[in-house]
Amino acid sequence: MAARITLLDEARIGLRSLLDRVEDIAAPTVRLGVTGLSRAGKTVFTTALVHALIRGGRLPVFEPANSGRIAGADLKPQPDDAVPRFAYEDHLAQIITQRQWPASTTRISELRLAIRYAPRRGGMRTLTLDLVDYPGEWLLDLPLLDMSFADFSRNSLDLARDPARAAMSAPFLAALAATDPASAENETQARALAARFTAYLAACRGERVAMSLLPPGRFLMPGDLEGSPALTFAPLDLSGETAPKAGSLGAMMARRFEAYKNAVVRPFFREHFARLDRQIVLVDALSALNAGPAALADLERALDSILTAFRLGRNNIASALFRPRIERVLFAATKADHLHQTSHDRLEAILQRLVDRALLRAKAEGALFDVAALAAVRATREASVNRGGTLIPAIVGTPEAGQSAGGQRFDGLAEVGVFPGELPASPDALFAADGGFIGLASGDDADSDFRFLRFRPPGGIGAGAALPHIRLDRALQFLLGDRLA
Ligand code: GDP
Repeated sequence: MAARITLLDEARIGLRSLLDRVEDIAAPTVRLGVTGLSRAGKTVFTTALVHALIRGGRLPVFEPANSGRIAGADLKPQPDDAVPRFAYEDHLAQIITQRQWPASTTRISELRLAIRYAPRRGGMRTLTLDLVDYPGEWLLDLPLLDMSFADFSRNSLDLARDPARAAMSAPFLAALAATDPASAENETQARALAARFTAYLAACRGERVAMSLLPPGRFLMPGDLEGSPALTFAPLDLSGETAPKAGSLGAMMARRFEAYKNAVVRPFFREHFARLDRQIVLVDALSALNAGPAALADLERALDSILTAFRLGRNNIASALFRPRIERVLFAATKADHLHQTSHDRLEAILQRLVDRALLRAKAEGALFDVAALAAVRATREASVNRGGTLIPAIVGTPEAGQSAGGQRFDGLAEVGVFPGELPASPDALFAADGGFIGLASGDDADSDFRFLRFRPPGGIGAGAALPHIRLDRALQFLLGDRLA
């Protein structure tokens, strides 16, 4: 542990925890992290959550709201001046007025909300909610703190050589085969190799493959670090090597890997991650299901890695001395509105299964974990379509302009009904007895596709009206219910 988090880090985190704790006693505060890989739905979720708290709406499972104990919620100036503000108003206007999805998260942002509520025991109180929206790619970097450059190289190359990644990694592996780590350090060569490595990681995020575990995270989500030397490295084939000699390419890459940890990963851990109390991890499980068993297995590895990160967040002196941070973690499968409601529980069961297996391995004890399948903004409604006398459940929505299905191209204006894919009744159907994945049936079931049609946000929502959702209230209850009791 000492290697991961330096004593100085621990002292800083401890001091920060103490200050946060004093603030929490003076004015109760929850710092809620919203994360997930790119396109998982962070921006949409954060916008919908804030809107639900400010505007209210149909939230039957969110007890404080349902029982009428929430008097109101207002935006307040955020506590950290150096972190960009989450552009809530712009995102909301985009969804409601323009019926377009807002721009995705590419960096960390923050928003503070003051929630006035009547505790059950009477009186009136205010809970301050700090939302911190950040790329899940950065979270998947935390396990790197525990790795040497040799460990990182070995892990990365094992992944790159996985048959499921072969097509994407071939150009990088070819360049690597022509690279001698013992040769003299060379900037041009380092840049070329880093570019190939980055291109391989980016290709793995493609819709058809939908891989999840692709560290280092800043190679895909560089924030403001694009092009800096800390991002100009790549794993090397160090098999049988002793420590790389000074002046060699190997030594240069190892130095940059350490710089990445020091300049990128540690500050993120210290300044942001270590200060979170609760966390929602959004997972685009439908994309992984669509892409097949390899993507699902990779998603499970990524969940494993995330759980390791939560363990890292709890086991430092700071948390032991001051307060256990990250008390609750919700894993949420997003975009459930792409499925008929008969499949919502099934989606939840699949995610539960993935997390359970990862939990067993990561032994992430302490925090409370739960899973949910939700749609932060419900873009479809349900209908039944008569097919030859049989009523078949369908979903109806407005596909985005330019989308096409069944030879039809959509104009972004007309509503269409589609038959969503159906998930298996038991997640067992996706998991083979030997622990491998079977995947969804193909062939006749090739229609079972939850991904290809992107629907526009729902229409006809007035400026002051609530947004339709699926199970957002469940997420709110798990994440905040006890703090508003
Ligand atoms: P981020 O990269 O994690 O911030 O992801 P976004 O919040 O930008 O979401 C990525 C895309 O997923 C959006 O542009 C939408 O197309 C889709 N999406 C996200 N949330 C929902 C949802 O609740 N329902 C539907 N139908 N689509 C969603």
